[in-house]
Amino acid sequence: MNTVVKKINIENICMDYINEAGNILNSGGLVAFPTETVYGLGGNALDKTAAKRIYQAKGRPSDNPLIVHISSPEELKDIVEYIPENAGKMMEAFWPGPLTLIFKKKDIIPYETTGGLDTVAVRMPNHEVALELIKAAKVPIAAPSANTSGRPSPTKAEHVIEDLSGKIDMIVDSGSVGIGIESTIVDVTSEIPMILRPGYITRGMIEKVIGKVCEDKVVSAKTLEDIGEKGYRPKAPGMKYKHYAPKAELTVFEGDIEKVIAAINEISKTERDKNHKVGIIATDETINRYEGDIIVSIGTRADESSIAKSLYDILRSFDSEDVDIILSESFYEDEFGCAIMNRMIKAAGYRIVKVGKDEI
Ligand code: AMP
Ligand code: MG
Repeated sequence: MNTVVKKINIENICMDYINEAGNILNSGGLVAFPTETVYGLGGNALDKTAAKRIYQAKGRPSDNPLIVHISSPEELKDIVEYIPENAGKMMEAFWPGPLTLIFKKKDIIPYETTGGLDTVAVRMPNHEVALELIKAAKVPIAAPSANTSGRPSPTKAEHVIEDLSGKIDMIVDSGSVGIGIESTIVDVTSEIPMILRPGYITRGMIEKVIGKVCEDKVVSAKTLEDIGEKGYRPKAPGMKYKHYAPKAELTVFEGDIEKVIAAINEISKTERDKNHKVGIIATDETINRYEGDIIVSIGTRADESSIAKSLYDILRSFDSEDVDIILSESFYEDEFGCAIMNRMIKAAGYRIVKVGKDEI
């Protein structure tokens, strides 16, 4: 299949391209498009064949449900059974934005879209190109991240081209995304809403709006044991799969920053002595402290959003550099930092080395 790439400038949106992409979606085709979190791979959420094509293009397990994207809150009532009061308050506070809510689905949403579940995940993205595209498609759009299943999510069109060129109809390129980490997911079907995946909208922000919420244990899991006895099924099914992973083995080091630097340098030396190519993820504050083959700064500790924004791009860049192992610092786990570490730990397949005491 020939995949067309169309550049759409968010400052001056070309409606001809939007309409072309909208028609593809409306007639069952697939279009990758930017959102404020990561690039999504869109298809008609009401069309089971389109949903199946999404799973196929990504190589995604069919029990890992898709998030449905809408262009205004009014569209929600057509696809969900009811809107709990807490959900209404969160929509008011955070939509359009990086918050996905889980509702009881109406029959119009096929089980192919929800991975066989009776619930559906919905969000309204805060990105003009995405909103115009959904409007032009005239149907709700199912859109998981536009990467091959298991790889880091795409934060620019080049990442989507890498993974999906030849497998989908169109890629809309509007440059780099703003946030760089997927949406927060909250299940509002239970009495006390439950965070299933952390994101830019933090627990603290949500609790200010609706009071107490709880968290699925995968949110802050540090080890495979933390997510429990064998057979534990996270409420957000995708969270059980290997995710965001670069080709080379990634290990995350936690503890006092001086000890982390020393430990990373020591392992780097041992590996390089074996002729292994070593990649190191540092920060602006520590980049000059390391010895390795490829040393990159993920951002500054003074601004967590800079770290979130470059995380997936850096993981992908190590793939193209063919490094053998990747060693990384870890980050604060307060608020947004919790989402960053959740993704890093999954990308590392739970390989965390604790050095010294937790003082960073
Ligand atoms: P992605 O868009 O690739 O970030 O993946 C969407 C994620 O949303 C899935 O991996 C699930 O974890 C979650 N999700 C989607 N629909 C549901 C649902 N009905 N119930 C719980 N989690 C869901
Ligand atoms: Mg994904």
